[in-house]
Amino acid sequence: MQKQVAIFGGGPSGLAAAEVLSELGHAVTVYEAMPTVARKFLLAGKSGLNITHSEPYERFAKRYGQSSDRLREALDEFTPEDVRDWAASLETETFAGSSGRVFPVEMKASPLLRRWLKRLEAQGVTVLTRHRWIGFAEDGFRVETPVGVVTVQCDAALLAFGGPSWPRLGSDGAWTPALADRGVGLQAFQPANCGFDVDWSPHFTDRFAGHPIKSVVARSPAGSIPGEFVVTKHGIEGSLVYAHSAALRDQLASGRSTNLWLDLAPGRSQERIARDLARQDTKASLSTRLRKGAGLDGVKVALIREAGGEESPEALSALIKDLPIRLARPRPIGEAISSAGGVDWNSIDDRYMLRALPGLFVAGEMIDWEAPTGGYLLTACFAMGRAAGRGIHAWLSEGSS
Ligand SMILES: Cc1cc2nc3c(=O)[nH]c(=O)nc-3n(C[C@H](O)[C@H](O)[C@H](O)COP(=O)(O)OP(=O)(O)OC[C@H]3O[C@@H](n4cnc5c(N)ncnc54)[C@H](O)[C@@H]3O)c2cc1C
Repeated sequence: MQKQVAIFGGGPSGLAAAEVLSELGHAVTVYEAMPTVARKFLLAGKSGLNITHSEPYERFAKRYGQSSDRLREALDEFTPEDVRDWAASLETETFAGSSGRVFPVEMKASPLLRRWLKRLEAQGVTVLTRHRWIGFAEDGFRVETPVGVVTVQCDAALLAFGGPSWPRLGSDGAWTPALADRGVGLQAFQPANCGFDVDWSPHFTDRFAGHPIKSVVARSPAGSIPGEFVVTKHGIEGSLVYAHSAALRDQLASGRSTNLWLDLAPGRSQERIARDLARQDTKASLSTRLRKGAGLDGVKVALIREAGGEESPEALSALIKDLPIRLARPRPIGEAISSAGGVDWNSIDDRYMLRALPGLFVAGEMIDWEAPTGGYLLTACFAMGRAAGRGIHAWLSEGSS
């Protein structure tokens, strides 16, 4: 029998749930706080929309750390292959880049979103923008609309508010006190896939903010990972930093001094670099010796200078192979690509229903999980939205008990 389902939050997880529920014949209304839906999804499209990853599924499914087990069932039902098939069903062909990351051929999100919204409309989904969930009413939910606050009543509801990174796109974490008041367990939000502050010298920042540091291997408790990142006026940012960010953030939070260690010349051994540096003219400048003896460019030379210390070939070669960048703190959560923290897994049953609030489900980044960049975030949001949609259907079919 058709039931009324309210979905609060029109991001990837909310829309994925709307798709499943409308396919199953329910009357679905999506309430979105912003003037348009899925603004973070559209922003992700600005860098090509890394929609999923093509690595072997067993490896993929473990990218969610401690949440991998909880997410597994949802991911099994909507695997990276399914994400690509789904995109293809919306006339969006995808390709896997050399890193295995999967993107739409058109390298943006807007055409895919447009076709997705059209499908939802055809399936009877109503989308109400400028409708902000502001809390619980006695017999439903309080929603702020352009004409005042209304009470929304429904047979079941999904909250898909997202995490508090990039709050100007709509997800600001403002919902947390209302859920905490109703007995929902929450973990503090933390930045994930974030940059870090570094106390660079003013000279270094003035000269090198915005410069990429390419072809390095960075080491942290997360392992040794090749890649590149960018020097910013505050510190460091970029994909290689994000890959280490959870481990570095946790180390900083435990009060320990925290370095990201760099191998600035991954193709050369320390012995070879020391030998080649020893051959350089001792009257030549440090940058000339490092360029000729170790192949380092301007910004890498400046990093060595920032680290200071001795200039013997042995000391320099050791620094080149293992240069510490001392981190001060993570950048604020508002700047992060994603967030950790949010609704505690212990507060959610296997159907994504809140144990404390039967009939109310949650999905997406507002739940306490994190994953690296690489398409893992969106895949999990789609998968969770779909799983919550099936959960709502099952709960409604069982007579809402
Ligand atoms: C710059 C950037 C680039 C990214 N690139 C990628 C990428 O390439 N690949 C990838 O996998 N991931 C990427 N991500 C992460 C990905 O976009 C998010 O993980 C994903 O959008 C989260 O989906 P969600 O539906 O849970 O939440 P959101 O996308 O945040 O959607 C939540 C929605 O709920 C609405 N909302 C919030 N509060 C209320 C309320 N009270 N009432 C009603 N509506 C409300 C919001 O306005 C928003 O529309 C990127 C993120 C950023 C910031």
